[in-house]
Amino acid sequence: MPSARRITPSSISALVVLATVSATPIAAQASQPTVVAIDGVLCDLTRTLVASDAKVVCLIQPGSDPHNYRLKPSDRQALSSASLVLHNGYNLTPSANKISNSAKVVAVAEKAIPINEDLDPHVWHDPANSAAMVAVIAERLAPILPARQQAALTARAAEAINVLNRVGDWGGNQFATIPENQRVLVSEHKAYSYLTNRYGLRQITMLDSFTTGGVLRPSSLRSIKAEVQGSGAQTLFPESLPVSKTLRRISRSTGLPVNGAPLFADGLAPDRSTVGTATLNICTVVQGQGGQCDQAAADELMARWSAIR
Ligand SMILES: [Zn+2]
Repeated sequence: MPSARRITPSSISALVVLATVSATPIAAQASQPTVVAIDGVLCDLTRTLVASDAKVVCLIQPGSDPHNYRLKPSDRQALSSASLVLHNGYNLTPSANKISNSAKVVAVAEKAIPINEDLDPHVWHDPANSAAMVAVIAERLAPILPARQQAALTARAAEAINVLNRVGDWGGNQFATIPENQRVLVSEHKAYSYLTNRYGLRQITMLDSFTTGGVLRPSSLRSIKAEVQGSGAQTLFPESLPVSKTLRRISRSTGLPVNGAPLFADGLAPDRSTVGTATLNICTVVQGQGGQCDQAAADELMARWSAIR
């Protein structure tokens, strides 16, 4: 299935060159610049793009909940000494909105995906959007890296975009293996619209909200039960383990099992890259809904991503 907008490596070179020309380059420094990556998949995207040319401080650890994150004193220290601060935006981490709105703070998803009708922060679940985020990050990194590192940055960004576009295409092949009447995803909070829209799945959520937490009212339980039954759903996908009370209630009420493997809604999965997280989520949905996942091809994409230097 084609993606609405696709970033290509040639567009990134133009962006980086433009940024290099228009920004005042910082003279070679004795110490490396520091970049703070707050949330979502930014930690891995940024580390992949800078390689060893800058220090990257990641605030929200993989598997943690950005929606309820509160900045710590050590976070504030890192933020004040950073040359560049990247956060996802679209209110993924409400506490990030409290950071002073200086030029060094960039809401990456808001720049990369400016048209987002529902203001859904979970944009990276479409790999094409992750590619667009790579382009924005590379553009913002260019002015803070020394001139001698610009060519390497451009090359890394181009390869990252290539790999993410391949992941997007690979995902389409995996979802195509799910029987047509089972192309549905039942999850907890409303985090997968960009995945389900790209790949033509129906999304059913227990909580009609972009954030985690919240209690289900009995009337909602009835409406979810009505929506899930006959939808083709084979399983309910948890977003964390142990499984939430809400999910257990819906499982009892609908007779659908809770999937053994969780989905990673809010950023990177522990010990996984952006590509590792995307392929894991896609395989979890595909296998849970009765399709087959080409793990060998996923492993190749993960290895290609890890090889970006
Ligand atoms: Zn979320």
